[in-house]
Amino acid sequence: MFNDVCCASGRDNSGSNIRKTRRLKVVLDIDETLIHAEVNEGVSSLRSGMDAGSETKRADKVEGILVKIQALDGTIHDVVVRKRPGVDRFLRNLALEHEVYAFTASESYYAQPILKLLDPKKEIFKGCYYRSECTKYKGKTFVKDLTKICGQSDMTHTILVDNNPMSFLPQPRNGVPILSWYGNCRDNALNILENFVKRLKPLDDVRPFLNKTFGVEAALQKYQPTEQKVTSP
Ligand SMILES: [Mg+2]
Repeated sequence: MFNDVCCASGRDNSGSNIRKTRRLKVVLDIDETLIHAEVNEGVSSLRSGMDAGSETKRADKVEGILVKIQALDGTIHDVVVRKRPGVDRFLRNLALEHEVYAFTASESYYAQPILKLLDPKKEIFKGCYYRSECTKYKGKTFVKDLTKICGQSDMTHTILVDNNPMSFLPQPRNGVPILSWYGNCRDNALNILENFVKRLKPLDDVRPFLNKTFGVEAALQKYQPTEQKVTSP
């Protein structure tokens, strides 16, 4: 996972500081990557993952922010949202140099109020993609096809940061895994990630370096038999 390997000795061979750099398309998952939300029973089905908030002791948790979420049936639900340490600075700095997108397997009416919390002035995210834009693998697992954001031609400078490795299935060599976050105030992953992204800037194609660093393609091989490609829902 990202926290384990991002400080490893792997080096890109960019070297020169006079080399031309390109803006990256940085696609970010939301739940357990940027925030952790504790939801009541009525809203939990709108989320993409399990609510594992109890794994972190209350005293070690970042303070939560109460967000009102209106479900499709009109009912209002109280959701406590905790921001991963450093997320505001991380997003602000990232958006200065790159194109930043959100891509979540959660429902839009759950995710949009959370994105408003992260980007109240709409200065960060160039685009936001929700469950309806996800692709289903074997009819049940939501995966994230980056061509929906970038088209086929721009994969050389696109990364997806996600705590769920299955999200990477359509383009595993663009994957940047990050450890799931459930509220711990001592987490430092976004700071490490910010520095890691800087190392990608000079590369002509981020995929060989990401694949060498994280090995996502090999790890997901068993889920991608040649006769069974992911299919649109
Ligand atoms: Mg997630």
